[in-house]
Amino acid sequence: MDYQDILYERIGPVARISHNRPQKRNAQGRQLLEELDHAVVHADRDPEIRVIVLAGVGDHFSAGHDLKEGVVARPNPTVEERFDYELEHFYDYCLRIYDTSKPTIAQVQGACIAAGFMVANMCDLMVAADDASFSDPTAHTLGAAAVEMLIHPYVLGLRKAKEFLFTGQRLSAMDGLELGMVNRVVPRAQLEAETLQLAERIAAAPPFALRILKRSLNRTREAQGFRTALQAHFDTHQLSHTSFEYNKVREERKKAQASGKTSFGRSDPSG
Ligand code: ZN
Repeated sequence: MDYQDILYERIGPVARISHNRPQKRNAQGRQLLEELDHAVVHADRDPEIRVIVLAGVGDHFSAGHDLKEGVVARPNPTVEERFDYELEHFYDYCLRIYDTSKPTIAQVQGACIAAGFMVANMCDLMVAADDASFSDPTAHTLGAAAVEMLIHPYVLGLRKAKEFLFTGQRLSAMDGLELGMVNRVVPRAQLEAETLQLAERIAAAPPFALRILKRSLNRTREAQGFRTALQAHFDTHQLSHTSFEYNKVREERKKAQASGKTSFGRSDPSG
């Protein structure tokens, strides 16, 4: 498959799959998400691949969903249409990353916002450049109940996740390291090399042992009700899309876009 919006690289036993719309801060449009899902499944099935890296070309990992595309391509979705679209493209695709049989590493630089945060945190490990920053301002900017996957409590701890989501605050790479979300912070210039080094170190282990180890570690979360909680949040998130508040913010955004301004004067295309 020829990819347009992602870059697929095989580097020895490592597959590196990168968001590749740097001119749009790697905003995730439909094409990008479908290609990302295809590539993740492909890498997981490739017997030569031992570790999968998710990355972003350019200055940012990803600024989130491509909301501008959404307004044009899916202007007035019914509840059913939105539910089905988000279930497939946001929820199922994310879980497919989480459920890959091989270890995955998020390689993050620059902005990692909203859906970018959600996708990056589906990975098993995270290496961040010193310029990386994380946020999920969707309650503030969209009137939505966070993004579709409520992964935040699992990677930040519940108390910090509440602060993060209630305030829409930005966390630095070092904050992420202290909270245990980020495994390593490295200088921006060494991000690719350090991530590859970590991937190659992992790839040196016998692959079946790694696969069942990952299975076992993920099952620890399952025993705590991980998927039940994610499903419940997905439905709650859908409810927030139908709220008066959400629609009010959406109309304001449309007007702002029609008059040539980006969303709320913010440069973050997130959600
Ligand atoms: Zn949504």
